[in-house]
Amino acid sequence: MDAALGPPEKMAENEDDLTPMMSQYFELCRKYDDSLVLFQVGDFYETFCDAAERTARLLEIALTKREDSTGTYPMAGIPIDNAESYIETLLDAGYRVAVADQVQDPEDATGVVERAVTRIVTPGTLTEDELLDTEDNNFVACLTEDPDRYGVALLDVSTGDFYATSARREELVADEVSRFAPAEAITEPDATADPFEADCMVSPYDAEAFDPDAAADRVERYFGSPDALLAADVEVRACGALLAYAEYTRGGKRADGHAGEDGHLDYLNHLTRYEPREYMLLDRVALASLELFERRTVHGDADVTLLGVLDETSSALGSRTLKDWLRRPLLEPDRIEARLDAVEEWTHDVQAREAARDLLRDVYDIERLIARISRGRANARDLRSLKATLDVVPELKAAMVDFESELLTELRGNLDELADVRDLVERAIREDPAREITEGDVIKPGYDDELDELRATEREGKAWIDDLEAKERERTGVDSLKVGHNSVHGYYIEVTNPNLDAVPDDYERRQTLKNSERFYTPELKQREDEILRAENRADDLEHDLFREVRSSVAAESERVQAVADALARLDVLAALAEVAATRDYVRPEIGGDGIRIEGGRHPVVERTQQSFVPNDTRLDAEDSFAVITGPNMSGKSTYMRQVALVTVLAQTGSFVPAASARIDPVDRVFTRVGASDDIAGGRSTFMVEMTELASILESATDESLVLLDEVGRGTSTTDGLAIARAVTEHVHDEVGALTLFATHHHELTRTAADLPRAFNLHFSADQTDEEVVFDHDVRRGAATASYGVQVAREAGVPDEIVERARELLSEAESADVEVEESDPETGGVEDDNSEPTPKAIADGAEDELAARLREVDVATMTPLEAMNELAELKREVE
Ligand code: ADP
Repeated sequence: MDAALGPPEKMAENEDDLTPMMSQYFELCRKYDDSLVLFQVGDFYETFCDAAERTARLLEIALTKREDSTGTYPMAGIPIDNAESYIETLLDAGYRVAVADQVQDPEDATGVVERAVTRIVTPGTLTEDELLDTEDNNFVACLTEDPDRYGVALLDVSTGDFYATSARREELVADEVSRFAPAEAITEPDATADPFEADCMVSPYDAEAFDPDAAADRVERYFGSPDALLAADVEVRACGALLAYAEYTRGGKRADGHAGEDGHLDYLNHLTRYEPREYMLLDRVALASLELFERRTVHGDADVTLLGVLDETSSALGSRTLKDWLRRPLLEPDRIEARLDAVEEWTHDVQAREAARDLLRDVYDIERLIARISRGRANARDLRSLKATLDVVPELKAAMVDFESELLTELRGNLDELADVRDLVERAIREDPAREITEGDVIKPGYDDELDELRATEREGKAWIDDLEAKERERTGVDSLKVGHNSVHGYYIEVTNPNLDAVPDDYERRQTLKNSERFYTPELKQREDEILRAENRADDLEHDLFREVRSSVAAESERVQAVADALARLDVLAALAEVAATRDYVRPEIGGDGIRIEGGRHPVVERTQQSFVPNDTRLDAEDSFAVITGPNMSGKSTYMRQVALVTVLAQTGSFVPAASARIDPVDRVFTRVGASDDIAGGRSTFMVEMTELASILESATDESLVLLDEVGRGTSTTDGLAIARAVTEHVHDEVGALTLFATHHHELTRTAADLPRAFNLHFSADQTDEEVVFDHDVRRGAATASYGVQVAREAGVPDEIVERARELLSEAESADVEVEESDPETGGVEDDNSEPTPKAIADGAEDELAARLREVDVATMTPLEAMNELAELKREVE
């Protein structure tokens, strides 16, 4: 946030002699001192004094001046009609925005018009459609801690999705937070600074909101007894405080005021409490390096991600749910099988699938609609959209009538047709209603007798006026006489100057123009008043009736949410079936031991590649650790990611890109892949690498899948190799996780040969005189050579440099005492038990270091110990 907020300083100086309006503004700034106050003055939201200067700068709008009896001061305003885009810029700049609307009709005001903050717009509590991404949830997180537990609650205010969990270890909760990628987080006022490194706006909130009793009361008001719902105090406090914050942003009172009912969000009626270990854990690093939702590199097709490949959903509801499923793949085989059964059923019945997907395209985002309806912010068009969605339900159920799988039967059963809601909207709301709800054209004729009478009066009056022109022309004999209407003077009879003699006595003058006079008659005036009265009362009545209808619909929000949930899940299952059917995926078998994939493909790379070479994978308790070698660009990373993605897909309940697959669910996918430089964060690549590695070594279990790519690259060769070996031995001996380890340390292939559950895999290449051709085919055994120089040439490195590199390479090769001539095709170094010999190193000190290193038994050390040992040795040698 660029500057402290609160009341503009300039104003604070002369607080006593402000005009009433400015002291109202000042008051609101003080009350909402964590936000930028936008203050409605007519058709604009204004800011004043230093707030105006800041706003003008940020929004690139004109800085004007306001002059009143107390002086002149800066003012900057934005038109209310397109306030949202300006608000978005303010949010991006790190502000909260408090919108202070006129809550009184200026005509009724005796003094200054009453104003109140009706909403506080923050990045994590958005509900404005214009500011939200339809395909993404928008979460605000609340973090709590007590001495031995961390809690987190996550809420999407725009949909009502609400989750809570807790864990003893801070990292676990931090991983949950990053899974949901919240746009904003709140903490207790005395929380240790940004404890979870949440990558979003983090700010402390009122201590009172976190008070255990207040929080429990609030949770109870929304969802019933917290004891029955939640598992720990930290969870109750996180949920309670988050509810308080959500109420506050809806213009409710702050927790430090009274726990008022004014901000209560009726549509929040479902809280999902879960254990982090109910789902496969995918932390921030894994989500990013597997490119589930975002692509890290910018080359090639911009947004090809796993989500991109899978998202054949037809509705925004489905799209968000798919993302949620991918973020949290399942562990429980029964739940996975239930989804797979459903997907399979959809794959078989092409007709039903197509029919359903067609119908689902007509589904509006009713999750957000019903939230808006409940908050009293929906207009008549929103109600029609809800109705249009409900119209789909009976047909969708009909399309699913033959399905037998448990999940599809259950979801079909959950599709409440909500006939009452549908009928009410159909009876009450016009087909194509006005956008505004206060100016008529909203309620259907025939819905309300009184309204019909008022509209009839209005119509008759207007008909009488329509006839008036002809009547008066006849009466006066003036053919050019006209009857007209304008918004200032109302109805008039216009007579041009040459004909003024013909004006009858009962005409009263209304307005004088250059060439004519305008008149009215008492009868015209009376009719006009009648029309106006009827019109105003009818508009008000329509508004009231509309609000009644909206409240009745809001009262059914829980049922609407259940339908939304069923539609969302059906949409995802049908989409997964569509992908399976069109992309040649197969149903994975769930269970057995480890991961077995035949003819596996990388779901994303296969879409961007002319042809993709399928590969097999076999990892189990007996053969748990694969060391993968091969030249750069031969396909090592693609292969490792492919194994992880097939596993993630299977546990999501999706079919997988393979000829066949059998997956025993893994509890977590760890990745230490590629160089995720965190230079901006001030940490070296090597430090990042070691931090990620430490987390893997600490948390991986024998049911985890671990991907390691080039561990130990960010340091000297000897350090790197020592770390790589120590890690290999530790993961192999102690952890037992299913592991794929790609490395350029050829020495590691010997280690793999020595360890009972480790084995070598390699990618090779055909080397012609001038170029390298990769076959992308993984085989047992270790690779023999590196093709870096040729790859450099292909990449466009100038010829003379490539030539020089070749020379150096052959010098190095003749000096290289390492013997590595095993044939990968026939089992390679797996059968080779000779001791690895370190490369001859020119530098004497390094030589000595290498010699000493051989004496150190890194295998028995943790990586940290190995690193310390190395540092120690280095110091000694130097
Ligand atoms: P490495 O990790 O060995 O350097 P990558 O996995 O990054 O290699 O692969 C390099 C490129 O080769 C990828 O960008 C992809 O285009 C292609 N590739 C990888 N594996 C395959 C495959 N099985 N079939 C076809 N192309 C592949």
